[in-house]
Amino acid sequence: MALFEKILIANRGEIALRIQRACRDLGIRTVMVHSEADREAKYVKLADESVCIGPAPSRDSYLNVPAIISAAEVTDAQAIHPGYGFLSENADFAERVEKSGFVFIGPRAETIRLMGDKVSAKAAMLKAGVPCVPGSEGALPEEHEECVKIARKIGYPVIIKAAGGGGGRGMRVVHTEAALKNAITLTRSEAGSAFGNPTVYMEKYLENPRHIEIQVLADEHRNAIYLGERDCSLQRRHQKIMEEAPAPGITERQRVRIGERCIEACKRINYRGAGTFEFLYENNEFYFIEMNTRVQVEHPVTELVTGVDIVQEQIRVAAGEKLSLKQRDVTISGHALECRINAEDPFIFTPSPGRIDTYHPPGGPGVRVDSHVYQGYTVPPHYDSMVGKIITSGKDRAQAIRRMRIALSEMVVEGIKTNIPLHQELLADARVVSGGVSIHYLETKLAQDKKQRDTGKKKP
Ligand code: ADP
Repeated sequence: MALFEKILIANRGEIALRIQRACRDLGIRTVMVHSEADREAKYVKLADESVCIGPAPSRDSYLNVPAIISAAEVTDAQAIHPGYGFLSENADFAERVEKSGFVFIGPRAETIRLMGDKVSAKAAMLKAGVPCVPGSEGALPEEHEECVKIARKIGYPVIIKAAGGGGGRGMRVVHTEAALKNAITLTRSEAGSAFGNPTVYMEKYLENPRHIEIQVLADEHRNAIYLGERDCSLQRRHQKIMEEAPAPGITERQRVRIGERCIEACKRINYRGAGTFEFLYENNEFYFIEMNTRVQVEHPVTELVTGVDIVQEQIRVAAGEKLSLKQRDVTISGHALECRINAEDPFIFTPSPGRIDTYHPPGGPGVRVDSHVYQGYTVPPHYDSMVGKIITSGKDRAQAIRRMRIALSEMVVEGIKTNIPLHQELLADARVVSGGVSIHYLETKLAQDKKQRDTGKKKP
């Protein structure tokens, strides 16, 4: 018997197609909700049913909770998969879905709420023995003298962060005591207007960390497993560009140690579904920064090195089943790399929506393309610029890199600009190829390249 008869997919783009593929593989029918701008999308045509939930702007469609719930009602869907972004980490939405009699494919609303507030998330992690970035115990107090004391104890530089922050916003680095007061006041007021929560906290600012994260899966039967780690240090404006699994230089011993801590945390917070513990990694130590309570863009690299279908496991767990495997069944073999393909200028990063006149995706051994686009497809200007992902795998890192270089060279996208040339440059960069660069590497490189272009030393 199928896990569910019918699932409603409350998302768009490549992840909508990815979830649809998982459903079809499991014999589950799909309902695709879409905005007016996504009417022509391939996954909408492939869906068993589709419902237009509003005009192009996200707030009128993909964030329109009543429209999504009624779409589930009229189509008799049993469960709702939120994908990533949009409503995926909105605890109120998860609650509404369950109260309306549908299954939310994700953790319980209270877990989303707990992990969505970074102050409560950190407190929960400390309790579970997960190492965190040294910082204030909870929210910063009102009295400035107290904050000064906390900063002195932590040691400068420190970073002031919003408890409700997300998407790389609501953070400020402070290098001296003189700058502290102003930074706290500004971050508080920005946090209040941007996230509706003025609570801020303080952390030691790590100067040269890598971003390493642990993928977990948990079911309702007290089983929780980790699927190893991913390195996502290549970022611009806190947005990941290229990811890989496993992380270069991480030993099996380190993986087991941090993985087991994450599993312990999952059990304590009664976690359900797929999740990611994000860490900064510096001087051989892991420091928790936040948890994402949903499937992530970069999940395929983990799928390729473990052979586990993360989206199918999410669905299985949501239906109340046990995970299909135990920790001892998880093995990491080979290496995988992911390049996010964005519709944007590769060097100045302005978005480049529009019609794709020519499209030739790459293929061959060890190449996976997760994308909803096709020749003649028009990338709408209303949403984020990612149009797909190329994921390559190989017996080792060198082969995954070679295959990615080949894949990028085969790929042809005309009519819009993409960041393929940036990926090609990165895979020609000796430091990137040797592995283990810090989260600042890409921005520093881009600044240097810009300088060279401006002074005519490098071709634009
Ligand atoms: P968001 O939810 O907005 O993504 P995170 O807490 O995950 O916020 O932090 C985003 C990014 O900000 C990190 O990947 C890292 O680049 C930087 N960052 C956050 N905290 C620190 C810290 N304590 N030291 C250095 N960099 C940090």
